[in-house]
Amino acid sequence: STSHRLDRFISQRSVHSRSDVRLLLAQKRIWVDDAVADSISQRVTQFSHVVLDGVCLNDKQPVYLMLNKPKGVASATWDDQHRTVMDFIDHPQKTDFHIVGRLDFNTTGLMLLTNDGAWSRRISLPQTKLSKTYKVTLAEPLTEQYVAAFKAGIYFAYEDITTQPAHLEILTDYTARLTLVEGKYHQVKRMFGFFDNQVLALHRDSVGPFKLDKLVPGEWRALKKEEATLV
Ligand code: URA
Repeated sequence: STSHRLDRFISQRSVHSRSDVRLLLAQKRIWVDDAVADSISQRVTQFSHVVLDGVCLNDKQPVYLMLNKPKGVASATWDDQHRTVMDFIDHPQKTDFHIVGRLDFNTTGLMLLTNDGAWSRRISLPQTKLSKTYKVTLAEPLTEQYVAAFKAGIYFAYEDITTQPAHLEILTDYTARLTLVEGKYHQVKRMFGFFDNQVLALHRDSVGPFKLDKLVPGEWRALKKEEATLV
C-alpha cells in the first residue's frame, strides 16, 4: 500500500489540521506503532497503528488468505455470470480483499487473497520471479522434447517474447509438474499449445513459499503473519 506523511494522515482522520500536527508532536500526543512520533514527515501506511490522545485513528489489519480455487469459478471479485472466488470467502473484511494473480476459469488450486496492496504487488512483480508450480494433465502423451523446449523457452508471437526457462518434470505419459517464474496470459496452455497438445486439467500447487494445504476445493485459511512475511 502507499504511504502517507504523518501530518496528512492525522489531518484526514481527526479535527486537527496539518499545521496543528507540529504542536501535537511537540506535546508528544501522537504515537505510531507503539513509539512517540516526532516528525511531521514520518511515513505511515494504512496498516500503521496511529494513536492520538490515546485514541487509535485506524484499526485496519492486513489479512492474507490461501484458497483452493474450485473448477468453474472466475478469479475476479465480481462477475455477472459466474461464481467468483469471493463467493467462497466468509470473512468480515472480505469486501477489502483483492486477488493476487489470476487463474483461468477451470484452473484449480492455490489462489492468494489480501487487503495489502504492497504485498500483492511484491508477489506479482516480474522482477520478484517467484516460482509457480502446476500439475498439468494433457490430451496427448508427453515426450522429452517438451522438457528441452520449455527449458529453452517458447516464442509467443503475440507479445513477441520468449518464455523464461521453465522446468518440466514428466510424471506419467499424460501428466507433468511445470515450474514457471512468470505468468503470461494463459501461459501454460500456450506452452503446450506449441506442441498442439491440449491441457485437460490444470492445478496450481504453489506460488513462491506458499504451498497449497490439503484444503478441499472452495476451502480457505488465513496465513499467519510469519508465513505472509516470507515474501
Ligand atoms: N497458465 C494457464 O494457461 N492458465 C492458468 O490458469 C494459469 C497459468
